[in-house]
Amino acid sequence: MHKGNSGFRPALETALEAALAHLENVDTTPVSAAADLGSLRRRLGKMLAAEGLPAEQVISELADDVRGGILGTASGRFFGWVVGGSLPAALAADWLTAAWDQNAVLYASGPAAAVAEEIAGGWLKDILGLPERASFALVSGCQMAHVTCLAAARHALLRQQAWDIEQKGLFGAPPVRILANADAHGSIERAVRLLGIGRSQMFFVPADELGRMRPDGLETALRQGTECASIVVLQAGDIHTGAFDDFEALSLIAKSYEAWVHVDGAFGLWAAASPRYKHVTRGIERADSWATDGHKWLNLPFDCGYAFVANPEAHRAAMSHRASYLEFAAEVRDPADWNPEWSRRARGFPTYAALRQLGRKGIANLVERCCAHAQALVRRIGELPDAEVLSWPVINQGLVRFRDPDPNASESHHAVRTDQVIAAILASGEAFFTGSDWKGRRVMRVSVCNWQTSENDVNRAIAAVQRAIAMTGGRETTAAAGTAPDPISQSR
Ligand SMILES: *Cc1c(COP(=O)(O)O)cnc(C)c1O
Repeated sequence: MHKGNSGFRPALETALEAALAHLENVDTTPVSAAADLGSLRRRLGKMLAAEGLPAEQVISELADDVRGGILGTASGRFFGWVVGGSLPAALAADWLTAAWDQNAVLYASGPAAAVAEEIAGGWLKDILGLPERASFALVSGCQMAHVTCLAAARHALLRQQAWDIEQKGLFGAPPVRILANADAHGSIERAVRLLGIGRSQMFFVPADELGRMRPDGLETALRQGTECASIVVLQAGDIHTGAFDDFEALSLIAKSYEAWVHVDGAFGLWAAASPRYKHVTRGIERADSWATDGHKWLNLPFDCGYAFVANPEAHRAAMSHRASYLEFAAEVRDPADWNPEWSRRARGFPTYAALRQLGRKGIANLVERCCAHAQALVRRIGELPDAEVLSWPVINQGLVRFRDPDPNASESHHAVRTDQVIAAILASGEAFFTGSDWKGRRVMRVSVCNWQTSENDVNRAIAAVQRAIAMTGGRETTAAAGTAPDPISQSR
């Protein structure tokens, strides 16, 4: 078959050009949305015609119609939520994943996909410092990783009480409860709901000022409910402060009550891949299950999360599915035994490619660079007029806010000013930050997890914040933001 004969080439070449136009122009494109809802609906809301169109026309019109509605998540100046970009090898492997279109449910339905996943899972455990024996699943994100891990937890805890959850379900089962931090990510609560455990079985353990679970609080909570099996959910990287629980102390306490310990490490677990930051994950290997993401700090395209379970039997019992028309492999890992999905994307390929592109040193360097940039951003924003640092980054997440300069200003005035500054930064298109509520205060979150973020991006973001402060009624300043070279202090 010669060039141009396949029917794919015109569409794929159009897509390649559009993708490169997007990725190679992030420095000159606004990082925030320039198009409003009405115009996106008008442009995309075409009549669905009776007759189809040439594929390349569909792709070129799509790329045109979404203009201004694609956020600059590929840019090094996107610091909203916890997002991350895409590494070149990961993105390219993701395109191939779509082209190969394997159903990565069984070895039989995607032999190379199953093997790439098997290899990538082993690498991940090694890099993240998790037990070699742990089983794993590549899922859509940390949300489904929680569901997978907590299903294994539910199985193991009920089995100890001779209750077969897979056979009997939860009706009439012995109770299971969840002990978590009040600041636990909302995906925990949803996993608990999906698993039929219910919100009323969630109990919050007191935390310290950074959001770390207090060991004495956990001990008290466990002692007060010994009639009930417990799952303790710990945090590796709080979304506001980046704080890490004391896994060693908390796991020891949890284990003495035979509780299952699950770790939400959506982005924070990656600190374990850096010699500089690994210490914050000390004791994490004592947990029973761990959830993290590939699409955040590893910089994979959406969507990819990872579930790891120290007890493969519990994991397999909770997830495995057998049907007579399927062919199961004896000597190789069938993803269907570990995943909640049936048909599924071959997520192992982009993971495999990202890990190989970076190598061990590259992963450590990515983590350390992001932390250094987050620290520089928080420190330099804190030096601007009316700005205040509320939480210094433990890793790559920090909190600032902007005060109303009026001496009689109240918390709600500071909240308004903070939202005004965030809105002005977004309107500039120069940087993207998101707001949040933390300890009764309105804050601006600083989250750095894009492999592309550079010193120049930090300088541009600082200049944008400075202008936003001036525009929203802040005092004029002569401090020359963006001109001083940033030493990117590696120290805490
Ligand atoms: C993002 C995040 C989640 C949810 O992960 P998804 O990949 O979006 O499903 C859970 N916990 C924390 C701490 C997160 O940052």
